[in-house]
Amino acid sequence: LADKVRQVKDLPAITRDGKAVELMLNAGLSTGFEHSKSAGAVGVGLYRTEIPFMNRSCFPSELEQTQLYEQVLDAFPKKPVTMRTLDVGGDKSLPYFPIEEDNPFLGWRGIRITLDHPEIFLLQVRAMMRANAHHQNLEIMLPMISNVGEVDEANRLINQAYYELSSELGSVNGKPLTKPKVGIMIEVPAVIFQMKELASRVDFFSVGSNDLTQYLLAVDRNNARVSELYDAYHPAVLRALNAIAQESSELLVPLSLCGELASEPAGAILLLAMGYDKLSMNPHNIARVKWIIRHIEYQRAKIILSHVMTFSTAKQVHTYLNEQLEQMG
Ligand code: PEP
Ligand code: MG
Repeated sequence: LADKVRQVKDLPAITRDGKAVELMLNAGLSTGFEHSKSAGAVGVGLYRTEIPFMNRSCFPSELEQTQLYEQVLDAFPKKPVTMRTLDVGGDKSLPYFPIEEDNPFLGWRGIRITLDHPEIFLLQVRAMMRANAHHQNLEIMLPMISNVGEVDEANRLINQAYYELSSELGSVNGKPLTKPKVGIMIEVPAVIFQMKELASRVDFFSVGSNDLTQYLLAVDRNNARVSELYDAYHPAVLRALNAIAQESSELLVPLSLCGELASEPAGAILLLAMGYDKLSMNPHNIARVKWIIRHIEYQRAKIILSHVMTFSTAKQVHTYLNEQLEQMG
């Protein structure tokens, strides 16, 4: 693998027949960016803000958050950095904000919590926009959206934070504060059937295939007892991912994917063929996915996808994709 990394490090992620893919970074701590940059990430596709909230005894202040976000935005000047608003609940809890529920993955998590606590949300997006003053490379992403009203409410709060901050700060370095792009995660299945309404409200979509798989298949992503059923290569999940790509292309909404599927060679080939041209993943997987993309033709990926779409079981999908990967070496 080390050889493969060295081979492709400074080269673009482009297929043999010229289809370019942007490989971005999933991150959650403000350290270790050097490695990811050296692997060739073209920006941050998912910054999980809940991670720096975890190892603490209370919520970080606006100033603390601003400094934290500055480190991330400053590490990628001129490259987009997508920061997700706090996504706690589910399996992620904060020691100073305990949540007791019977069904945490179907309960109070992500945007549901921050809309119930607008003071947490407003403080966080203010800190993000403050931190954005230097490079203006911030994009804001909303997790766990399951209806249109949540997007309207979040947009209203983001606008409020933007106007308040603008009038407090005036201009920064002689330039007025810019309002960042706002997008949502597609990770609750309901959203797949409201993409049109959502398209007019947001600047981009990003698929969270980890949760989308969990919610489509009704399989807890962390429960070992049902882990065999948790499979992003289940034909239903693949059809959903394909439908999302087709619809967002028709709606002209920029689309990316930031779940684990993007970091697997077979997954990346299928996603490429479906039309996902922005894939975000953990830093140590970037080189491997780049190598695969540089060693396949887009046309071949599309043929592979068309075969995969005829299978009715995940097992058939895996068997066929393993054969294809072996042929590629
Ligand atoms: C996802 O759900 O696919 C995702 C990227 O977010 P997280 O894993 O943080 O829930
Ligand atoms: Mg998720």
